Amino acid sequence: MLKDTFGRTHDYLRISLTEKCSMRCFYCMPAEGIPLGDASKIMKKDEVIAIAQTFVDLGVKKIRLTGGEPLVCKHAGEIIEALGQMPIELAITTNAAHIDKFMPSFKKAGLTNINVSMDSLSEEKFNQITRRKLFETVQNNIKMLMDDGYTIKINVVVMRGVNDEEIVDFVNWTKDTPIHVRFIEFMPFDGNNWNWGKVFGYKEIIEKVSNVHTIEKLTDGPNSTSKAYRVPGFAGTFAVISSVTNPFCGTCNRMRLTADGKIKNCLFGQEELDLLTAHRNSESIEHIIRQSVTNKEKRCGGLPEFENEEEIKKKMSKRSMIRIGG
Ligand code: SAM
Ligand code: SF4
Repeated sequence: MLKDTFGRTHDYLRISLTEKCSMRCFYCMPAEGIPLGDASKIMKKDEVIAIAQTFVDLGVKKIRLTGGEPLVCKHAGEIIEALGQMPIELAITTNAAHIDKFMPSFKKAGLTNINVSMDSLSEEKFNQITRRKLFETVQNNIKMLMDDGYTIKINVVVMRGVNDEEIVDFVNWTKDTPIHVRFIEFMPFDGNNWNWGKVFGYKEIIEKVSNVHTIEKLTDGPNSTSKAYRVPGFAGTFAVISSVTNPFCGTCNRMRLTADGKIKNCLFGQEELDLLTAHRNSESIEHIIRQSVTNKEKRCGGLPEFENEEEIKKKMSKRSMIRIGG
């Protein structure tokens, strides 16, 4: 078991398969893109699988694949199938632009936990946010998943003045569609021009929906990052991930493995410990994983309150979100 000094058991690992992506969401990566690092520093298929196995041996019960866009990784299919053999719940967060090519691997691996990121229901706005023109492809793939019986979650990063006017439209989508919309508060990362004023928070989101619909609170799971609601009678649900205005660190059970093989014990933390180099030197990585978990801060990687914009900018991680793996 991986327990930190605050008694939190860590049994959930998020693995970034690549720093590359087919989209360029402005909240995730800088306009100029990110310098593509040396490919030899990125984990190879067998390295991902071996390192994941060590985490599973240490008690990890759930692995989510992310990135960059996990499905632009050359070996995504093989990795998914290999992880599908492990005694874990396998999940993926994806922009959905390539899902159609991976359905056989999803089925072989028994992968049904799929989060799709889609921040606007308007094609024009979607293209502005992602700086690409893949709206129709994403829509078709979402429809394909639903027709195939998958129950998917839709991640919507809410940004003031960008898409906050679409919150109720997203909730209305859940009327006849058994889909789970999750509104994520806009978080600060290197190069994404974050400021406190752009955060459209949990309270405001709930207020906006309540002005139009009666809503009921649902019960959240023990390690849930989201606060779930439903409009009575609607087929789907909606939730808010309030990482900025109401962080959920008290029940955090997550660790992250970056595409270049570093363990991060918090999305917001600066500390990274190198697992890949040790693995390549045939050294044990168990003590490094344990060290990382022991070093975990109580709240938000040791960052100050998010309202404290200047301090946040000084202290936040020097990785853009695309290089952390959301
Ligand atoms: N490419 C995949 C995707 O977009 O779903 C996986 C990687 S992406 C970094 C993972 C998640 O992080 C997405 O749901 C994305 O919306 C979210 N994300 C990225 N930058 C964010 C930010 N600044 N604030 C909040 N969520 C963010
Ligand atoms: Fe790519 Fe996902 Fe980041 Fe958008 S949020 S740029 S799809 S990694």
